[in-house]
Amino acid sequence: MTRDSHQQARELIAWGSPGSTDSQQTWLRTHLDGCASCRDYAQAAERFVRSLRSVPVAADLALVRTTQMRVRLHAHQLQQRQERLWLVWMSCILVGLSAAITTPFLWRAFQWLGEWARVSSPVWQVGFMVFWISPALAASLIFLARGIHLSDTNGTSRG
Ligand SMILES: [Zn+2]
Repeated sequence: MTRDSHQQARELIAWGSPGSTDSQQTWLRTHLDGCASCRDYAQAAERFVRSLRSVPVAADLALVRTTQMRVRLHAHQLQQRQERLWLVWMSCILVGLSAAITTPFLWRAFQWLGEWARVSSPVWQVGFMVFWISPALAASLIFLARGIHLSDTNGTSRG
């Protein structure tokens, strides 16, 4: 057997039976009967084709499902993180807005109360400060507690 005949046999194997004539297939079968290395090549090619055929099935069932699950999980985590961030931002904006809106009114109210109760200015001003600072203090305490709680749950279970 010449080097050309091995080459020809491997080309016939690579093309497959649809790409060759009956006489070529007969010649290939007799060549494979007498040539161990081309037989190995044919088996390797067959394994390769089989593995290629099995890949889409595996991708359809397991790979796609796990990939979709991972993508969904990641999107869910991202959404949760964005929602948390949005909540914190909205709370900050609301607190800031309400403080900006209510502070002048509160100042006026305390001033009026001070005049009505006939107490000196420092007294109602201290009262105003305590009243003004307590919600912010309470809110920051709540945020601190919630922040610790959130980071705790993040640490133990993801999602
Ligand atoms: Zn051969």
